[in-house]
Amino acid sequence: MGLSTDGQALDPRTAPEFQTAARSVLNDAQLRKNVRHATTVIQNKRAKVVGELPDWQELREAGGALREHTMKFLDAYLEQFEANCTRAGGVVHWARDAAEAREIVVRLAKESIGDAPSEVIKIKSMTTEEIGLNAALQEAGITPYETDLAELIIQLGKDQPSHIVVPALHKNRAQIREIFQREMHLPHLGETPQDLADAARSFLREKFLRVPTAVSGANFLVAETGGVCIVESEGNGRMCLTLPRTLITIAGIDKVVPRFADLEVLLQVLPRSATGERMNPYNSIWTGVHPGDGPEQFHVVLMDNGRTDVLADEHGRETLHCIRCGACQNACPVYRQTGGHAYGSVYAGPIGAILTPQLQKMEHAESLPYASSLCGACYEVCPVKINIPEVLVHLRSRVVERKTAGLRVLTNAEALAMKTAGSLFRSERRFRAAQRLARMGQGVLARKDGSGEKWISWLPGLLGGWTQVRDLHALPDETFRQWWEEREKSKKHAGGAA
Ligand code: SF4
Repeated sequence: MGLSTDGQALDPRTAPEFQTAARSVLNDAQLRKNVRHATTVIQNKRAKVVGELPDWQELREAGGALREHTMKFLDAYLEQFEANCTRAGGVVHWARDAAEAREIVVRLAKESIGDAPSEVIKIKSMTTEEIGLNAALQEAGITPYETDLAELIIQLGKDQPSHIVVPALHKNRAQIREIFQREMHLPHLGETPQDLADAARSFLREKFLRVPTAVSGANFLVAETGGVCIVESEGNGRMCLTLPRTLITIAGIDKVVPRFADLEVLLQVLPRSATGERMNPYNSIWTGVHPGDGPEQFHVVLMDNGRTDVLADEHGRETLHCIRCGACQNACPVYRQTGGHAYGSVYAGPIGAILTPQLQKMEHAESLPYASSLCGACYEVCPVKINIPEVLVHLRSRVVERKTAGLRVLTNAEALAMKTAGSLFRSERRFRAAQRLARMGQGVLARKDGSGEKWISWLPGLLGGWTQVRDLHALPDETFRQWWEEREKSKKHAGGAA
């Protein structure tokens, strides 16, 4: 489940189907303009810095291989992480699902806060969005303060994130200014980026210095050392990691990497793909507790929440290779039109279309695998080479299987047509016979156009759905096979004659 920062449901179980939600978003010209502008800027920056690396494809290969290897031995690496984190002074907790994760974090936060004002500061984390942590904290009387600029905009605007890396990508500068003027009580706030950044800095600085408990996500968990790696661009993460007395990190079990050295690959591909930067301005790796330096208490909550089910599916499991860079969102022609909210989940775009239906029960997100033209742009840019189009097709087949499950007789006309087509394509004899029959049958339907091409513009019954919106090219008088066989025969003949 995902809840927005103000507690409003962003939940595939209750969200409208993608097609319905997308239709209403498409009427919002300002939102579409904002999304197109932001994704174009990030894509151009990405293309520039990726183009600088002659070994970019090798890095992608290495990233993909590393993630595949990790998932193969995930259980062992998680145990190694737990042992090393504990040895360094951290406390590791395991959460089977979102409810357990929320309960653990809220309990730890309450224990840490004690008699102090009930507040926590937060580093941007899609995992906490996934489990609706802010709403749970608020219900428990604890006020969470988002410290990432984009997340702060979302929180103050009582909005929902629409992008993995740039959650407020659908907002433009004027809209952000309006939110800050209203929520920070700054009626005379200027409109330059500097004005907005200064306002956010003053608003947050006091909280960094005052609030003694922080909640973070994690980009990577290093099994070899028990360290937690967080990358960011604003320095808010570094503040949250170092200033509070207690740090509570929550991460999906898929975030683990085997060795410290593996970060060499991932910290090259992640910033380039995410924000078009050569490296992140702040790379923090936090390992355990160190007297007199940083938090006195350090907790890591390792959360499953459907991930082991994804791992069990041999065609879907590569979804877990994702390092949440958002490049597939920026490249996706569907996401670029609709933005993220239409996906009804905190994970939008191509990664959301494959992750959400697998983390949720499929029936709650059946429309998402169809929210794609299968153009392959997402695969092209993915820094760990996840074949998203292939996973989408796999998930579509699961949707069809679920819908037809339990039916002894195929009553569905489309399913029957597919079954018949499958039988024809499996046998050359049947295929040729079908071609002959179809050629005979099309005689009365096919019409020549001005150039002599034959087209069918009307088909009977259910097939008519196709010709309602497009013409169908008639079968040629001679098939490719026939042409090829004739050609081979005449070559032989000519060779024999010579
Ligand atoms: S699927 Fe690939 S491109 Fe998309 S967010 Fe994940 S790592 Fe990035």
